Amino acid sequence: MDKKLPFKSSNFRKTETLLAVYKNKTYIWRELKILLYKPYNKNTIMSLEKTLVILKPSAVQRGLIGEITSRFERKGLRLAGMKMMQLTEEILNEHYAHLAERPFFARVKASMMASPVIVCCYEGVDAIQVVRSMTGATNGRVAIPGTIRGDFSMSSQENIIHTSDSPKTAATEVARFFQPEELFEYQQNAFPFLYYTDEYQLV
Ligand code: ADP
Repeated sequence: MDKKLPFKSSNFRKTETLLAVYKNKTYIWRELKILLYKPYNKNTIMSLEKTLVILKPSAVQRGLIGEITSRFERKGLRLAGMKMMQLTEEILNEHYAHLAERPFFARVKASMMASPVIVCCYEGVDAIQVVRSMTGATNGRVAIPGTIRGDFSMSSQENIIHTSDSPKTAATEVARFFQPEELFEYQQNAFPFLYYTDEYQLV
């Protein structure tokens, strides 16, 4: 595309014209795909990820639900699902299976059942990594200020929020906490103002 032609006025005009046509064609085609296909084919934008967020009893009891959800909202993530639920030993045995051998396993489960929690599913380009970065390190005393745990937690257990840590766990965790009909695929109207067209992939 940027290959240089000899500097002759005729070649210069040709390159400029071709570039303009190429750019417009690409732009128009991408915009048309969003406008025309999106309402009918919900999988049009390929690179969107869904991730699970749990506002733990430490967030609910300390009145941080609005503060935390507003951070994700302002960031530009699309809320695909949200509900309040009381966690049970059964679901926590599955959810924290990787901690089963740790000495604090029983404590963590008790802490997660101490009051209802809010479970959310957020969606966006690279949403799993974005939400994880906003969460901060497990231990709130170590988590960097500016992150949710860094700003609101002084503990490695009472650390306010759970967030999926990889695409594999995100898919399992979203399916664990949400029935398909509890997830909503509505159009995020701000989408063209959140991403430039080359930051996601269309099919
Ligand atoms: P993360 O929540 O950052 O993904 P883990 O999956 O390792 O971290 O741990 C799950 C949860 O178990 C943590 O969020 C925290 O509530 C609890 N936990 C982890 N490590 C400890 C610890 N050393 N002491 C007490 N609780 C812990």
